Amino acid sequence: MSSGSLRADDIRERYERIRSEVGPAVTVVAATKYVSLEDMAALAEAGIEVVGENRAQDLEAKHGAYGDAFRWHFIGHLQSRKAKTVNEICELVHSLSSESAARRLTVPALVEVNLSGEESKSGIPPEQLEAFLELYGDVRGLMTMPPAVQDPEESRPYFRRLRELAEANGLRELSMGTSQDYKVAVEEGATLVRVGSVLYRD
Ligand SMILES: *Cc1c(COP(=O)(O)O)cnc(C)c1O
Repeated sequence: MSSGSLRADDIRERYERIRSEVGPAVTVVAATKYVSLEDMAALAEAGIEVVGENRAQDLEAKHGAYGDAFRWHFIGHLQSRKAKTVNEICELVHSLSSESAARRLTVPALVEVNLSGEESKSGIPPEQLEAFLELYGDVRGLMTMPPAVQDPEESRPYFRRLRELAEANGLRELSMGTSQDYKVAVEEGATLVRVGSVLYRD
């Protein structure tokens, strides 16, 4: 059916496996930055319910074509001038990390925390979290993106720290874990995992 390169049956099999690994309490968000507009059809056919897009422009195009087929999350760097698009389409933003975006956003959000201190990573430093939370009324939880690792166990301290920060601030949702380490993230309390490559590649 799909004219793209992804096969719905393959994606369904991987998606079902991940869902059984993480259990019913964890939302599996399919990261779609690698997925073309045409290939989004295979994701819908595979039964994927929640997708996370990184770029507002792609979000707009994909939503325009597939609208009600998915629930839409935003997981990329959010520029304040794109907040309007995100407000119109998304049920959750995972990656709030600037005051200017916070001023324009109207949908539930997670605050992205940079726990590794890598300058290339977005997210606010943990020391600034408490003050940052004052800026936005609808923060549901926290998100983090640990460094790329060989051994998923290396991500565990970051996930644990994010959970402690969320607990200390009375926040419930934890968006953590990607293809490399989602199982460890779930052990540490993730309520949302964001997976891409593990769904699309062998
Ligand atoms: C791409 C991306 C993911 C998924 O990464 P994979 O390694 O492909 O699972 C998760 N979160 C964010 C913010 C991303 O940009």
